[in-house]
Amino acid sequence: MYKHILLAVDFSANTENIVTRAIEVVNQNGAKLSLVHILDNIPMPDTSYGTIISLGDESDNLLLEQEKNNLTMLGEKLNVPDNQRWLIWGTPKDEITTLAAQESVDLIVIGSHARHGLALLLGSTASGVLHHAPCDVLAVKLPHD
Ligand code: AMP
Repeated sequence: MYKHILLAVDFSANTENIVTRAIEVVNQNGAKLSLVHILDNIPMPDTSYGTIISLGDESDNLLLEQEKNNLTMLGEKLNVPDNQRWLIWGTPKDEITTLAAQESVDLIVIGSHARHGLALLLGSTASGVLHHAPCDVLAVKLPHD
């Protein structure tokens, strides 16, 4: 039985497929569900440790608001409380696996695309998570883009 499931969402067109599968597993196991989205395409704002990259660009602010809204809406739809919704700056595979260890997650649910050619060589978030995860990983097969 899984007790704490972490669903990694990138809000791409296939998100619904992964959400559906994650909910099935959550219900089957009576598990707690957490959601994570990694901000890998928006510059990080100033912090007390110094400027990483300035968040001066209005389009970045809009993008950040949009990502926050996406996570809030999905969290509300799935009844996931605020403190189990994570929006983190960084590289998806690193932040997802670090969060899983920190929060004693025992199953990560993630999407997996069939890849060919260069994309295969470059790897994917799913294979990165599989190699670094501290727990089981359910890679939900996604249709071709
Ligand atoms: P990819 O291999 O990057 O196409 O992504 C495959 C899966 O990794 C997605 O279906 C998500 O489950 C997860 N993923 C990718 N990027 C992110 C992200 N920025 N935040 C959270 N999960 C992500």
